[in-house]
Amino acid sequence: MKKILLILTGALLFFSCTKKSEQELFISDLMNKMTLQEKIGQLVLFSSDWDVTGPTIKGNYEKDIREGKCGAIFNAFTADYTRKLQQVAVEKTRLGIPLIFGYDVIHGHRTIFPISLGESASWDLKAMEESARVAAIEASAEGIQWTFAPMVDIARDPRWGRVSEGAGEDTYLGCQIAKARVKGFQGDDLSKNNTILACAKHFAAYGAAQAGRDYNTVDISERVLRETYLPPFKACVDEGAATFMTSFNELDGVPSSGNKYLLKDILRDEWKFDGFVVTDYTSINEMVKHGISKDDYDAGKLAINSGVDMDMQGTIYYNYLEKMVKNNDVSEATIDNACRNILNLKYKLGLFEDPYRYCDAEREKKVVMCDEHIAKAREVAGKSIVLLKNAKSTLPVVDKTKRIAVIGALATSKEDMIGSWSAAGDGKKSVTLLEGLKKQYLQHRITYAKGCEVSGNDKSGFAKAIRTARNSDVIILTLGESKWMSGEAASRSNINLPGVQSDLLVELKKLHKPIVLVLMNGRPLAIEKEVSMSDAVLETWYLGTTAGDAIADVIFGKVNPSAKLPITFPRNLGQVPIFYNCKNTGRPFDKNNKYTSKYLDVDNTPLFPFGYGLSYSSFEYFNLKLSEYKMNEGGTIKASVSIKNTSKYDGTEIVQLYIQDLVGSVTRPLKELKAFKKVFIPKGETKHITFDISTDDLKFYRRDMTFGTEKGEFKVFIGTNSSNTLEAKFTLQ
Ligand code: BGC
Repeated sequence: MKKILLILTGALLFFSCTKKSEQELFISDLMNKMTLQEKIGQLVLFSSDWDVTGPTIKGNYEKDIREGKCGAIFNAFTADYTRKLQQVAVEKTRLGIPLIFGYDVIHGHRTIFPISLGESASWDLKAMEESARVAAIEASAEGIQWTFAPMVDIARDPRWGRVSEGAGEDTYLGCQIAKARVKGFQGDDLSKNNTILACAKHFAAYGAAQAGRDYNTVDISERVLRETYLPPFKACVDEGAATFMTSFNELDGVPSSGNKYLLKDILRDEWKFDGFVVTDYTSINEMVKHGISKDDYDAGKLAINSGVDMDMQGTIYYNYLEKMVKNNDVSEATIDNACRNILNLKYKLGLFEDPYRYCDAEREKKVVMCDEHIAKAREVAGKSIVLLKNAKSTLPVVDKTKRIAVIGALATSKEDMIGSWSAAGDGKKSVTLLEGLKKQYLQHRITYAKGCEVSGNDKSGFAKAIRTARNSDVIILTLGESKWMSGEAASRSNINLPGVQSDLLVELKKLHKPIVLVLMNGRPLAIEKEVSMSDAVLETWYLGTTAGDAIADVIFGKVNPSAKLPITFPRNLGQVPIFYNCKNTGRPFDKNNKYTSKYLDVDNTPLFPFGYGLSYSSFEYFNLKLSEYKMNEGGTIKASVSIKNTSKYDGTEIVQLYIQDLVGSVTRPLKELKAFKKVFIPKGETKHITFDISTDDLKFYRRDMTFGTEKGEFKVFIGTNSSNTLEAKFTLQ
């Protein structure tokens, strides 16, 4: 038996070595035949004219493909269209090197899932992996082999419109979600025709834009960069993410597309990344405006020598790389390297074997928006809804005799439901809240009035809304933002509800009826007043194609909410940035001492802390115990807690474990998330949950920037959110 195993392992080893060298041989052989211009062509990514997010550099890209001057296309999809373009590359060029097709498949391709921030509220790694899997299955059938996702930028400023695209404020949660999404897109084998390359973006620290204004300067310490912003990118490398995208911002005075420290020293040398690096849209060109390059030529030289392999849409590599090599400003070896990085991935995708394997009209018809994908999207959407308030058990609505008034523009908006970056999603195919409610309730007991638009000052619809609400037993009011208010280039200087939406709520409140506020938005909003005026509040983000069904599932109790906020909700904008894992300061707030860290006009606490979210169930935490109260370097201890579901509803709770290092060679956060478990607890039952804590969980960048532990005391917190926890203490000796 042992012998057979040995032979088998040997054969496997031999096979994988041969396979690897086959790839190397193939690529070297191909590159030997390539001219410099053809190699440069592989470094050029052009947008088809279908969809753009920035200045389009108009060109005849079909001609460029034919001449071997463009090796990659984005914003083109459908099996037929990509086949047509692929035919040009394969049949009309000298060497027949296939194109790679990229696209922003961010939260679904045709079947749209909740926006990434919303999905992150599920804390359900399996669900997020599956959501990315579904997106990959649909996109790959439509000719796409490469998504510009996941976006793993930590974001702590709700003014920044792109908070909606990431996983929120926390580094630990961000790392887990980043890995789940990479796994979902790439699967376990890139050569399968339904897996696509992931792209970790935007490298790096884009989320730290000053004042939350998109594309703005980033100025953070090396420590904050390494502790907070880089780990999710490292997690992507560890999970095998095939590509990286540079960010638009500068970091310590150097824009990312010209930042050798980021792209070579950290990404390649420290992390051993072996895929390729693409710029963000025209970000090489933008280095001229940044004021670090005097012209496009200079910017291109900086980018290629700093480790950028592919130029997205900038035409800088296209126009100047050849000249740079001739002028000895760039070595041919540098071009070879970049070209090899790209060709290697084309090989791994199986494109040289069959360049049309991703444009399969039959598969496209079968998988795109199939029942299974729609069902999965609804399930994930249900898991992403956060119950923020539920006074007097207003929800769920179980009494089917009640008359429901649905108010608000967003309740009938199809387009908004799919959120920003909804790729090939079609808003017309999404389910609105009003439609969703009507499917699950007696239609004649539901009435609707818009009240007002999301923005603008028009109150002429208030009277009808008030009349409609007066004749009801419960008011379901949708308020929030339009989808275009978040995403790229969508920063806001205030995070209140736009328009006269708040005034509408004030009027409805006068009717003294129960109000269920359904929020639809892509960022934390300052809604203290609105929450206090509502009886129940659901944060529903933009939930995707099945939004209305998923919200109705929660409102009528088919789904018991379990999601938790992945980002803090401030009381007002003045508190921003506000996040749970902050430092204590030398003068932490003390209400009896004026000279402590606080505002005069607002409480120090957020409106809703990180990790917060209610359920129709109620959970009681007790009996936090540690297996040992002393730990040795390299050791592990167990932390356990009991949780009782004291309600009449079966429910799921996300149990969170935080740690605080009490004294360090540098100051340490008040607490940091280190683990969580999502557990189902039937009504009346108690579950005992155990976490392992290892010394790895205690490591940090010490005073000298080495990464490791320091001996001393630590606190362990376990609870239902970042500010409601039980605690215990142990010593690392
Ligand atoms: C965005 C990227 C996106 C790219 C391609 C840029 O404007 O910043 O996130 O992937 O466009 O569409």
